[in-house]
Amino acid sequence: MVATPIGNLRDISQRALDVLTSVDVVAAEDTRVSGQMLRHFGIQKSLVSLREHNEHAMAERIIARLAAGESVAQISDAGTPGISDPGAVLAAAVHAAGYPVVPVPGASALTAAVSAAGFTCPHTLFYGFLPPKTKQRRDALTPLAALPYLTVYYEAPHRIVESVDDLVAVFGAERLAVMARELTKTFETIRRAPLGELAEWIKADPNQQRGEFVLVVDAAPPAPQSDEDAHDSVLAPLVAELPLKQAVALAQTITGAPRNRLYERALTLKNAADED
Ligand code: SAM
Repeated sequence: MVATPIGNLRDISQRALDVLTSVDVVAAEDTRVSGQMLRHFGIQKSLVSLREHNEHAMAERIIARLAAGESVAQISDAGTPGISDPGAVLAAAVHAAGYPVVPVPGASALTAAVSAAGFTCPHTLFYGFLPPKTKQRRDALTPLAALPYLTVYYEAPHRIVESVDDLVAVFGAERLAVMARELTKTFETIRRAPLGELAEWIKADPNQQRGEFVLVVDAAPPAPQSDEDAHDSVLAPLVAELPLKQAVALAQTITGAPRNRLYERALTLKNAADED
């Protein structure tokens, strides 16, 4: 599974060139597009077409070639195979047939966009392409809005305005997001702003509606702690280590909460701990 550039051809890796030069056959989505890329690197290779609609049948033919001792590289039109692109069906079939599946990592719009987005949340949910219609798109977004993860979407130019509008409707205008457009290409644009502002900015400039897009949306802010949760986070460690009276006195100094409320809660925590 060989990653190829997402725009700038200089992003090809040395190892990708080595593998593409040495394999017996290259499976590509669009043999015309990939043939052109390979020629740019001076590689003449026999190409077979592996697309979403023929991936199962092609997987069988590729396994027959592996069985005959040949080596096969799979590439997609751009970026990493299997990331919103064909590849997973072939990889699964090759695993099942007992041959190794070897990744040759490189460019992907997903990692390029997240790396430049500047969000500190350590968890990322990659959604890929959203549904094309508003109702289904909003339904798909709704369960994601409260997640404590960055969410990442691929989008096409003819849907970018509607999709960002739906993100505003579901995530709220204040949620911070990054639009990464035309990554690694001449008109690369990376814009970080609250979703409402981003939507207006894209609408105001038709140039910002052209090309290929990744949208990275910041994680939901943590839900505000209830008083009880806040008191528990102070009380629990004190109750575990100290006599009850002392734990409550300290918790009162720290939180300023009424003593009898803290005492009741401390008792509940202590009883629960004793039962454990
Ligand atoms: N396999 C590819 C990868 O690893 O990124 C993704 C292929 S998917 C069919 C194509 C989508 O990826 C585009 O519609 C766009 O959302 C995103 N994409 C690909 N190249 C991009 C680029 N240079 N800039 C921004 N987005 C890009």
